[in-house]
Amino acid sequence: MGHKYAAEPFKIKSVEPIHMTTREEREAAIERAGYNTFLLKSKECYIDLLTDSGTNAMSDNQWAGLMIGDEAYSGSVNFYALEKAVRELYGFKYVVPTHQGRGAENILSRIAIKKGDYVPGNMYFTTTRTHQEMNGGIFEDVIINEAHDPQAEHPFKGNIDLKKLQALIDRVGADKIPYVCLAVTVNLAGGQPVAMQNMREVRALTNKYGIKIMFDATRCIENAFFIKEREEGYQNKTIPEIVKEMFSYGDGATMSGKKDCLVNIGGFLALNDEKMYQKATQIVVVFEGMPSYGGMAGRDMEAMARGMYESVDYYYIKHRVEQVRYLGEQLDKAGVPIVKPVGGHAVFLDARRFLPHIPQDQFPAQMLAAKLYVHSGVRSMERGIVSAGRDAATGEHHYPKLELVRLTIPRRVYTYAHMDVVADAVISLYQKRDSIPGLEMVYEPPVLRFFTARFKPLPLK
Ligand SMILES: *Cc1c(COP(=O)(O)O)cnc(C)c1O
Repeated sequence: MGHKYAAEPFKIKSVEPIHMTTREEREAAIERAGYNTFLLKSKECYIDLLTDSGTNAMSDNQWAGLMIGDEAYSGSVNFYALEKAVRELYGFKYVVPTHQGRGAENILSRIAIKKGDYVPGNMYFTTTRTHQEMNGGIFEDVIINEAHDPQAEHPFKGNIDLKKLQALIDRVGADKIPYVCLAVTVNLAGGQPVAMQNMREVRALTNKYGIKIMFDATRCIENAFFIKEREEGYQNKTIPEIVKEMFSYGDGATMSGKKDCLVNIGGFLALNDEKMYQKATQIVVVFEGMPSYGGMAGRDMEAMARGMYESVDYYYIKHRVEQVRYLGEQLDKAGVPIVKPVGGHAVFLDARRFLPHIPQDQFPAQMLAAKLYVHSGVRSMERGIVSAGRDAATGEHHYPKLELVRLTIPRRVYTYAHMDVVADAVISLYQKRDSIPGLEMVYEPPVLRFFTARFKPLPLK
């Protein structure tokens, strides 16, 4: 009664000290990192909200699982534990472990996409689209328009626009569309969920044309929580029931275990079709390893299987999503422009409105992330024009509507007190926003440039 938030549904058994730095140290560090927070050392960061990928805190039960790692080259008991978890919780028949999510994307893109094919998706994800394009595919965004508007309040901003999908089918023909990539939740839209109703409708439409649905399942548990919270008819369903129903509308999934499986490394490709599975086993041995370990050690498969069961616990996922929302609400109350509604894994600052004086080709979100770091030691990341990269055909920048800085909350790692520190840092920086200049890019790698690009500040106009 009267609490502002639900307390952590866990006790702390082991702690990791965090590092305090001075402003001078941070100024030197960001200079050395080329104004790219990806290139900072973790020891240079106070609260590290770069990503929720692989930054999860494992439970005592998962750590115990590491000790029963069966490191056989083939047929490890831990593979069967993982297979059982995927079948019981997600309902897919076959599983191919991979070193992380993009390993699964590589295999799926190679077995399913032919040159000139179109792959519709509810907004792109960086590595997902890169694998599609490297295999000759053309990504087509079919998310609802609201997803591109940071201020549009829609309970399921990750939904697919059925008219856009139908228009693509009419334009290029169903035989040019190997599958729809359906992400739950949508990372680059701000961790926005997809409604069950929408998944059902996409299934009905694709069934008419024999088009498959491949989930990007990375944040499926967060998506399930939003369905329970917001969608009519699901309040009394359990998280496992909702997850099972979601995946009943798909033919397979790529999974980054580093997110909703509560581990530090790992992933898998899940499939229902036996022929596709057979092809996947032919490819996985080239890029990852034997089909029964893929890119993973036995112990890591055990930790992932155990994490999957823990992740569907209602109190775990409720705390997870509500902690993220708590940070978002603090910023919103102070007038800081953020993407609304707050999504499942992160709070996204709207850099267009935070720094309206910086044009998009001077990388406002990149600079905002760099300045937040210097100001407070809080590490975040750019999700805007740098992340969007260049058009494969014209070589021009993609100019995404969303120019965001992502404050990503690792699972089970930080407390509400840390969220207060982050909120105070962002709010005090917002009060000094006029003093922040733009950037120019001085080094640009050819693909996935946001990881390693380097920048220099421009003079303040
Ligand atoms: C992280 C992520 C991936 C890629 O997974 P990795 O484990 O980082 O290779 C794919 N899709 C989404 C939505 C992600 O967030």
